[in-house]
Amino acid sequence: MRGGSGFVGRELTRLLRDRGHEVTVISRQPGPGKITWGELESRGLPPCEGAVNLAGENLMNPLRWWNESYKKDLFSSRIDTTKTLAQAIAASPSPPHSWVLVTGVACYKPSLEAEYTEDSSWTPFDLLSRLVKEWEAAACLPESVAKTTKQVVIRPGAVLGRDGGAMKQMLLPFWLGLGGTLGSGRQPFPWIHVADLAGIIAHALEPPTDTSPPAVPQVFNGVAPALNTNYEFTKELGRVLRRPTIFPVPGFVMNALMGSERAVVLTQGQKVKPKRTLESGFQYKYPDLTSALREIVGS
Ligand code: NDP
Repeated sequence: MRGGSGFVGRELTRLLRDRGHEVTVISRQPGPGKITWGELESRGLPPCEGAVNLAGENLMNPLRWWNESYKKDLFSSRIDTTKTLAQAIAASPSPPHSWVLVTGVACYKPSLEAEYTEDSSWTPFDLLSRLVKEWEAAACLPESVAKTTKQVVIRPGAVLGRDGGAMKQMLLPFWLGLGGTLGSGRQPFPWIHVADLAGIIAHALEPPTDTSPPAVPQVFNGVAPALNTNYEFTKELGRVLRRPTIFPVPGFVMNALMGSERAVVLTQGQKVKPKRTLESGFQYKYPDLTSALREIVGS
């Protein structure tokens, strides 16, 4: 698993080990239970049942200014790692039965009205949607390997959990009573609890049921079935924390602080439905905001 040392990767590693699987993390740093990219390239993919790519420079890194070098890192840390892993799978004498890439919902154009499912067609319209296009294209396996290796793409919304992602940065201001809506607050806020995202990835890693999996990756939206706005999220987090949420942050402030191409993920949003995820029989632990936020803040 590449990116296994990160926020989602740690949760997935815990889940898979609890289920009795052995997990090897592919990382930039060597360490126990890990192999490095260099080792992957020189020695090839170790025999495994499934491979996952979760690597990527953090889009919300507060320590990085929005500039060309950061944008380049966002692209290369995702696309190059995905290509390397896909090539290692293709070159393996015994390729894994499942290959899972985790991307994002930024491919769907923000809208207050449109509802998107995995079947919705889309074409890139901004920087982040271009990133998703190139990232997903980098994962495609040659036809000969795709006959035996199931390819899956999971597109998560904002991943909510105590130990990372957006919540880690939001909890302190909300605790201090400084939380508020972002932009108009009317924008949809697609989200998922980290435990459910790990569950969907584990579900996708299961061996294919068809003898010949589809030649193109199957897409699953990694979002909770509840459709919420940023206003609803803000009010529910304030309620669960018992704190006021009276300090809205205007869109232009977000754009100035974060860069408008990045702020778009918070100031605008998409109504994303997990149609295929539900049809696949996946059962959410945290299908609504109240249960997810209660688990996260421990109330
Ligand atoms: P993290 O920010 O926790 O990072 C995941 C891992 O990526 C890190 O542990 C690191 O592994 C590796 N990494 C970081 N920077 C680089 C780099 N410059 N080059 C190569 N590898 C790098 O990510 P999350 O766990 O939060 O997210 C996992 C994936 O899901 C990411 O691709 C992300 O874009 C996507 N996603 C996440 C969302 C969220 O809200 N968290 C929402 C939607 C999508 P190491 O140091 O071991 O090399």
